[in-house]
Amino acid sequence: MRSHQHLASLLNSLDGRGYKAYRELEEKGPFSFPDFLLFFDHVQGDPFAPPSHLRVRLPQSVVRLPSPLFSNRVRRIALEDFLARKFSSALEGLSRRRGIGGSGFFRTIELSPAVLERTACRVTPEWVELRFFAGLPAEGRRIRGGEAREMLLGDVPQAAQVVCYGSLNPRELNRHVDTVEDAQAIQAQLESLGLVAFLAEGSILPRESGISELPLKRAIPFTPPASLALEVETPHRGKIRGMGIPRGVTLIVGGGYHGKSTLLRSLALGVYPHAPGDGRELVVAHPATVFIRAEDGRAVEMTDISPFISDLPDGTNTRSFSTPNASGSTSQAANIVEALEIGAKVLLFDEDTSATNFLIRDRRMQALVQKEREPITPLVDQIQQLFQEKGISSILVMGGSGDYLDVADTVILMDRYRPFEVGSKAKEVVAKFPTFRLHEALRSFSSLSPRCPLPESVKPRGRPKIKAEKDWLVYGGEEIDLTRIHQVAEVGQVRAIGALLQHLAEHFFNGRQCLAKALDELEELIDERGLEAGVRSLSGDFSRPRRFELAAALNRLRTLRCRPDGN
Ligand code: ADP
Ligand code: MG
Repeated sequence: MRSHQHLASLLNSLDGRGYKAYRELEEKGPFSFPDFLLFFDHVQGDPFAPPSHLRVRLPQSVVRLPSPLFSNRVRRIALEDFLARKFSSALEGLSRRRGIGGSGFFRTIELSPAVLERTACRVTPEWVELRFFAGLPAEGRRIRGGEAREMLLGDVPQAAQVVCYGSLNPRELNRHVDTVEDAQAIQAQLESLGLVAFLAEGSILPRESGISELPLKRAIPFTPPASLALEVETPHRGKIRGMGIPRGVTLIVGGGYHGKSTLLRSLALGVYPHAPGDGRELVVAHPATVFIRAEDGRAVEMTDISPFISDLPDGTNTRSFSTPNASGSTSQAANIVEALEIGAKVLLFDEDTSATNFLIRDRRMQALVQKEREPITPLVDQIQQLFQEKGISSILVMGGSGDYLDVADTVILMDRYRPFEVGSKAKEVVAKFPTFRLHEALRSFSSLSPRCPLPESVKPRGRPKIKAEKDWLVYGGEEIDLTRIHQVAEVGQVRAIGALLQHLAEHFFNGRQCLAKALDELEELIDERGLEAGVRSLSGDFSRPRRFELAAALNRLRTLRCRPDGN
C-alpha cells in the first residue's frame, strides 16, 4: 500500500496532464494516511462527468467510539446516521469551485430527517467508513494537481476528523442514538398493546412549508385526548405519554384546515425513526403501514381487484386485472391489493386523495344506478371485512363522507390542531341520522393469489441507465413515476430501488418465485450483509427503502409482466 506522501507526489506529477491520467489514483490506491485509508473506487472520466467515488476508512483505534453506541443493529444505524450528518456538513463546508465542471466540489448523500440504513457511513467493531464524492479538479481538461492535493490531503483529513469521538459532543450523540432506539422500542410494542400507531405528547407534526421537512415554528404541540392517552415504556426516557391509535377502523374527522392531513402524513412517515429536532421523533406507526390513494393513469399488471371491482362494462376480468391506464377507483383498488400481497397491516387513506366512487355510494346513487351497472363495491362496505378477515387496520381522514361513522371503531375529531376522541358522540349521530344506504354484498379477500414477476420484464431495457430523483426513477429506457408514493423519505431510497429492481430481476425472479417471497429473500440478504450487498455497490448514496416502496416502483414499471403463482 502506498502512503499519503506518495499520493502527494503522484498528484504533483499528474499536474497539467490530460484528465484521464487521474485514473492512476484508482490503480495505485488505496493510500494510507496517519489516521485512515483513502480509497478511490471510481475515478470520473472527465471534469463534467458525475464525480469520483471515494471512501475513507478510520480504524477504531483512531475514532474510539464507545462500543455501547453500536451494540445492536438499531443503535448502529442511528450512530451511522449521526456520523454521516456530521461528516456531510463538514465536507460540504469545504466544497468550492476549483476549475471547470464539477472541479473542487464534494458531494454527499441528501439526508432527510428520517434515520435510515445508508451506504454513506458504516461502523464495525474494527473501523468507521465514510463514502462520498469528489469532483477532481481540472482547468481546460488538464489536471490541476495542486488543487487536488488541497482537496485530498487537506480537506478530506479535516472532514474525516469530525467523526472521531473526541471531536463529537457526547450528549448530542447519545441523545441521537437513544432517541432512535426509543422510537424503535415503541414500534416493537405496538402489536402487544393492540395499537397501530403512537404519537407522543408534545410532538410537532406540521412542517414549515409544503416543500420543507423542517418543523413549523410556533406550531401547536400534539396533545393526546384523555380517552386515547396511554403510557409506553422506553429504554432511555422511561414512560412516555401519548395517543395510541387502536387496531381496527379509525376515522379522523374535522373541519377543513384543522390538521387532519398533517396528522395522517406524520403517521405515514412514522414508519421511520426521525433525528432529534424533527418534532416527530416519537411519532411511531406500525412498520407495515401503507398510504393508499387514487392514482389514475398508472399501469396495473395482473392484480386481483375483484373484492372491490367486478363486471367492468368491457368484460375485463378483474380477478387478474391489467391495464396501461387505470382509473381513479381501479388504481386505488390495485394499490390496496398490491400492498396486501406483500404484507401491509395498516392502510392510510385521505379523502382528498381518494376516488369518491371508491369510497362511497349513497342511497340516491344506489337507487338511480342499479347494482348490476355499478362495478364498484365501495370501501365503506369492505373496510370492516378487511379487518375481520385479514386483520388489516385502516386510518381514514374524512371531512365529507359521514357514512363511514357506521363502520368506525375509533373516531378522532381534529379541532384547531387538537385531537378529541368522539366515538360516543359519533354513535349518537349514527342513531339520530341513519344513512339509508343499502349495504352492498361483501366480497372475500381470502382468495387473493400471489404473482410471480417474469425476470425479463424487469431487467432494464434500452440504455442500462438508472437515474433517481425523489419522486422519479429512470430505469433503463423506462420512467417510473413515484410522485404519488408518499412514503419515500429521500432520494437515496429511490436510487436504491433502481439498483434493487435490477438485482431482483437478475437473481431473485424466475417466473415461479412470487413477489412476496422474493422480497423476503432480498431483505434477508440486506439484513445479513448490508444494503451494499443488495445494491451491489460501495458508493455512498444509497438509502434503504421499505419493501412497500420497492414493490410500488416495480408495480409501476410499465414493462412488468407476471405469471400466477403455480404452487
Ligand atoms: P386539513 O387536512 O384538516 O384540511 P391540514 O392538515 O392540511 O388540514 O392543515 C392545514 C394547515 O394547518 C397546514 O398549513 C398545516 O401546516 C397547519 N397545521 C397543521 N397542524 C398544525 C399544528 N399542530 N399547529 C399549527 N399549524 C398546523
Ligand atoms: Mg386535508
